[in-house]
Parts: sequence; C-alpha cells; structure tokens
Amino acid sequence: MSRLLDRLQHEIDVLDAQSLRRRRQIAETPCAPEQRLTLADAAAPRTMLAFSSNDYLGLAAHPALAAALAEGAARYGTGSGGSHLILGHSRAHAQLEERLAGWMAPHIPEAQSLFFCTGYMANLAVLSALGGAEAVIFSETLNHASLIDGTRLARAEVQRYPHCDMQALDAQLAACDAPVKLIVSDAVFSMDGDIAPVAELLALAERHDAWLVLDDAHGFGVLGARGHGVLEATGLRSERLVLIGTLGKAAGVSGAFVAAHRTVIDYLVQRARTYIFTTAAPPAIAHALLTSLDLIEGEEGARRRAQLRARIAQLREGVRTVLPADGSAWMPDSPTAIQPVIVGDNARAMQLSAQLDGFGLRVGAIRPPTVPAGTARLRIALSASHGEGEVARLVDALGRALGRTLTLKEAA
Ligand SMILES: *Cc1c(COP(=O)(O)O)cnc(C)c1O
Repeated sequence: MSRLLDRLQHEIDVLDAQSLRRRRQIAETPCAPEQRLTLADAAAPRTMLAFSSNDYLGLAAHPALAAALAEGAARYGTGSGGSHLILGHSRAHAQLEERLAGWMAPHIPEAQSLFFCTGYMANLAVLSALGGAEAVIFSETLNHASLIDGTRLARAEVQRYPHCDMQALDAQLAACDAPVKLIVSDAVFSMDGDIAPVAELLALAERHDAWLVLDDAHGFGVLGARGHGVLEATGLRSERLVLIGTLGKAAGVSGAFVAAHRTVIDYLVQRARTYIFTTAAPPAIAHALLTSLDLIEGEEGARRRAQLRARIAQLREGVRTVLPADGSAWMPDSPTAIQPVIVGDNARAMQLSAQLDGFGLRVGAIRPPTVPAGTARLRIALSASHGEGEVARLVDALGRALGRTLTLKEAA
C-alpha cells in the first residue's frame, strides 16, 4: 500500500513545487463580503473581506430565501426520495421548470426547461445526449471544465476553436459534413469575464445548420433588464438555442436548468444519464428557487444589478490607476462581475493573493489547469453587496501589493 500512497504523495509534491497545489479555506459564516474564514494552515478564523464568490447579486444569504427553503422543507420534507423518472419529481420542481421556460419563451420557440442538481451535470447531459457518434462538437477554447468533460463523454468528434474567433469557427463548420453539428460556448467566460459574441455564434449556427449550446452560468440573474440572462440581454431567438443556466451563483441557491425547444427537453428526459440516474435534488431547493426568481426579476433584483454595475465601473476605474506601468499585471476588458488581474506566473499570483490576505482581503489566485498555462491571475469577483468603501479598500491594497511585488522583483 505505501508504494501506492507514495506515488500520490509524489504528484502532490510536484504540484506544490509548481505553486499548483490547491487548498481549501473554511467559511465559518454565511456567504457575504465580510466573512469569517479559516485559511489553510491557520489555527483560528479571521474576519476577511472576500472578493471571490459567485454570489453576484448577494442573494446566497438572503433571509427571504432561507425562509423559503425552510417553508419548502416543511411542505415537502428533506429528501426527494428518488430520481425524477421514478418518483422524485415534485410539484416544486415542475413549477420551477415552468417559470424558467416562461423566462426563455421569448427567445426559444416552444421553450421548455429541465431542472438539474448542478450545472456540471446539466452540461454533461446536454453534450453527451446531443453529441452522438454522428455529430461533431465545435468547442470554444476557454469553455468551462464541465463543458470540456461533456465533450469527453460525448461520442462525437470534438474540434476546438480559438477564443471568440468567428472566422476560424466559420471555416471549421464549412469544412465539416457531419449530419449534426453543435457549437458550444460559455456565454460569459468564467475566468475572463468577457461575453461571447452570441449573435455571431447564432448566425453561424443558422448558416451551417448547427445547434448553439450556451452556458449562461455567469449571465443568469445578472444580464438583461430583468436578469433573465444573456438571451434577454441580446434579444436572440431561435429553436437552435440550447441554454444552460446555473442556480447556485447569482440565484443564490443550487442547481441548474436546460432550456430548449420542447423536443430537445423530451429527448434529454429519454437520454440524459445525469438526469435519469441520479436522485432528484430536494424539492425544498426548487421551492426556494421560486422565491429567488421573484427577487431576480423584481425591483430588488434591478436595484442589485444597478449596484453591481456601479461597483464594476468603480473597480475598473480604480485598478487601472494602480496597475504597474511595465505591463507585468494587466486587466482584460470585462463588462461583468468577473474582473481578472492577469500576472502570468503561478507563484506571483499566489504571492499577490497571500499579500492581499495580509491586508484582510480574500481574492482567489487562479492557476492552470483552470486557466491556460502562463495566464495565472487574481480573479476578482464582485457582488451587489460589496459597498463602495469595500471596493476602494481592494483597489488600495491591490496597488500596494503590486507595488511591493515590483520592489521585490527589482531587488532580485
Ligand atoms: C460554475 C459553472 C458551472 C457548473 O455549475 P454548478 O452548478 O456549480 O455545477 C458550469 N459552467 C460554468 C461556466 C460555470 O462557471
């Protein structure tokens, strides 16, 4: 046995030497900008100001959602009791699917939706079910890991196309004579924050008779006047659209959905293994999500989206003034809550994150394989519940951390 353990330990040591070892912190309090966190290696928790959650609207600890979850548990119990096809499909799940289908109806003819336990499972479902042996999948290079794993599970051939390169994609599609083609892309790129050229993607899908699968994990709740996501923001409409939205980020709860023409949804019910062979999420989750949807599309959601936009503008403005002149750290153009500061080197990203920890700020260092080699970064994630003073504190600390890093480098 020890030889087997030694092999694993060796791999972990190699990761450690490359500044690629991952460690967890423990959250002692609910998700919020100010959080008590116990960092790896620390004996006691500290109160920190966090810029690393995907809780973009600040709903994850909203009292109305906690109350709705409790009400759902009182009404439906805790467990669903089985898979959706056996007896786990509750009235709450059905209501949620109907609400979400209504949100997507302006954009997808005869829209229906299907609720999944997680976005990861929804993505595996869509790609493995639609990407049969006769299909070719055209996959954007910066797609989320769950989409990449979906392409691995699919029996289709997979071709990757360069980030947002519509000319390359057009040429690849034109050269392909497979009977089924799928274009697959994040709608908002999870580590860069930029928005995919969805109108151009849909035009290519129309021209080459392909499905367009969009993963709106970071757009749902945030984009569009009512928070319905990327399709509302862009006003697209097509029966080729297969939209995945996740419900554990801006929606503040858990789960995901696929929205598409009713024939696609019916097909997924027949074929999607991550839907069929798993226990349905607790109905109380779906019940709480109904309240989350009310908040998102109501006045409160609109107010929170406006707050988020203000913080995004403030952060971009501020960070621009503290970035080093030598270009060793830079911020790509992102209009969303995801604001990366790219430094390239893994160790430097870790060092900056540790320096910010020293100031009481928590910003995640993102390294390969989550991002391409040589693009390690701080991933600043903003929320509607961040205050103006809190963002100012981050900009100030970032300026000092970047300055200090340069001094160290110059001294070396
Ligand atoms: C988070 C994320 C997922 C996975 O969703 P979960 O509900 O967390 O499993 C899928 N796609 C993208 C782009 C994501 O960021």
